[in-house]
Amino acid sequence: MKIKVFTVNPYRVNSYLYYDEINLKGFIIDPGYSSDEEKSEIFNFIISNNISVKYIINTHGHIDHIAGVNITRKYFNVKSYMHKDDFFLIETILEYSEIFGFDISEKPIIDDFITEDLELSEGDLKLSFIHTPGHSPGGICAIDHINKIVFCGDLIFRNSVGRTDLPGGNTKMLYNSIRNKLFRECSDEYILCPGHMETSTIYEEKNFNQFLVQ
Ligand SMILES: [Zn+2]
Repeated sequence: MKIKVFTVNPYRVNSYLYYDEINLKGFIIDPGYSSDEEKSEIFNFIISNNISVKYIINTHGHIDHIAGVNITRKYFNVKSYMHKDDFFLIETILEYSEIFGFDISEKPIIDDFITEDLELSEGDLKLSFIHTPGHSPGGICAIDHINKIVFCGDLIFRNSVGRTDLPGGNTKMLYNSIRNKLFRECSDEYILCPGHMETSTIYEEKNFNQFLVQ
């Protein structure tokens, strides 16, 4: 299993290429890129390493995380997945994408819903999902229980947590999602791959995150 991270757009979102290095198939998690330069860098990496992208996973529906859904979908002919509770964000996305500096002319297309019953596998990789609202109503964490990795979007960061002042955000729900869902589902040794900034571990955040240790 390999993870390659591309930090993209003015908001410095982590777009993850998560793949099986034996069968060279994998997932793109949070395709936040919209510029030609970023797109070329990522797609060239994928092509020159003979990786075939099988799924696009969107941890939530904010523009900085999903701006590259359509180009990725079309280029690799793959489906994109998101939780249904973030669809309302996509409905209004074109109105504010330009304000936020994104060059997209059509709404990101979502082919299928992420639910807690969904499981997506490819070679030795297997992702399951938990619904973790708070930063947005349809936020999810994608979890690889074999390799103990969590792609947690903007729910939690190293020594920080996701903002809750955007439409549909809810502080109480955010803490509930972290404490009662993420921390119960994943033990201390799991590695957190967040939507911004560097990786961490469940242990680290449980014990030292200033917003959680009080
Ligand atoms: Zn966000």
